[in-house]
Amino acid sequence: MYDLIIIGLGPAGLTAGIYASRYRLKNLIIGKELGGTITLAHAVENYPGFESVSGVEWSQKTLEQTKKLGSEIVYGLVEKIERLDVGYKVILRDGQKQEARSVIIATGSERRKLNVPGETEYLGRGISYCTTCDIPFYKEKTVAMIGGGDAAVSGAIHGAEFADKVYIIYRKDKLRAEPIWTEEALQNKKIEVIYNTNVIKILGTEEIKDTDEKSKIDQNQDKVGGVELDKPYNGSNILPVDGVFIEIGAVPGTSLAQNLGVALDEVNYILVGEDMSTNLPGVFGAGDLTDNSKNFAQMIGACAQGAIAAASAYKYLKGEKAPRILGA
Ligand code: NDP
Repeated sequence: MYDLIIIGLGPAGLTAGIYASRYRLKNLIIGKELGGTITLAHAVENYPGFESVSGVEWSQKTLEQTKKLGSEIVYGLVEKIERLDVGYKVILRDGQKQEARSVIIATGSERRKLNVPGETEYLGRGISYCTTCDIPFYKEKTVAMIGGGDAAVSGAIHGAEFADKVYIIYRKDKLRAEPIWTEEALQNKKIEVIYNTNVIKILGTEEIKDTDEKSKIDQNQDKVGGVELDKPYNGSNILPVDGVFIEIGAVPGTSLAQNLGVALDEVNYILVGEDMSTNLPGVFGAGDLTDNSKNFAQMIGACAQGAIAAASAYKYLKGEKAPRILGA
């Protein structure tokens, strides 16, 4: 039996592993893939010590550090966590079972869906939730970036390195990304912001009627050809684009925690105390899925939460301090 199983290989989980190993806890990190959401960031420029680093590079470096210090790593999808008389059993989809006296749940978040017609249909055929991954396919094309936060605005800047034209379509009247990103985007001649507007449908090439812009759209296959807006822009509700990047935030990945009986808030984030403890003894939360991250989902915060969760697991295992019981 492990002292600690950490679920999630993102910044929170990896940092928890570093701290757990230094506390000499026998620890195992289980995750479906390295890095989590941070791997979608092409440039992280606000993490101390790195002027600019891609999410992928940071994750690889941190994984090496974590392994070197002693964490064991298993790649796989966790299907269920069960409570035992002493500790917890973690069951993977491939049938593997692991047990530990304590658990840190650091399963991050999933990209939010727009939930409009055409979104599912054209997924992978012009629709993407990861600008960093897919924008290189849009060299000299026209794309729409939906959202007004850091992901959409930094994504538009990155997008303009490839595409000829990037529309940011935002439902409010002022972008809410970090000012440094916003200033850069607004100065970029390839980027045009369409404010106070929602996308209500994603259209295929066939649905794009003759417009001046139609000739610019590649019509050789059934793929995204444009978006329908809830109000006219430059006289039309139809905006022809070759690609649609949906960058509208994330929803916490808390189904494992919920099934175990961990208390969540009204929008499904794990309720944690200052020490990252949950309502269950020996179960801690860390990273984008905790209610602490709801309004500040930053890599540095996820790392800090991972560190605190590991320290709290150590104290819990030593019987130094009973975890604070929330929602009891
Ligand atoms: P955010 O939650 O910060 O922003 C989501 C944006 O999408 C908001 O502008 C929101 O609008 C809009 N939105 C939400 N739902 C809808 C909807 N249904 N229809 C239309 N628009 C919608 O998410 P991000 O993904 O931008 O960022 C997540 C976290 O990751 C943040 O903490 C961010 O700072 C960080 N990040 C850091 C990066 C970096 O440093 N390189 C890059 C990317 C992200 P509204 O404003 O009206 O709520």
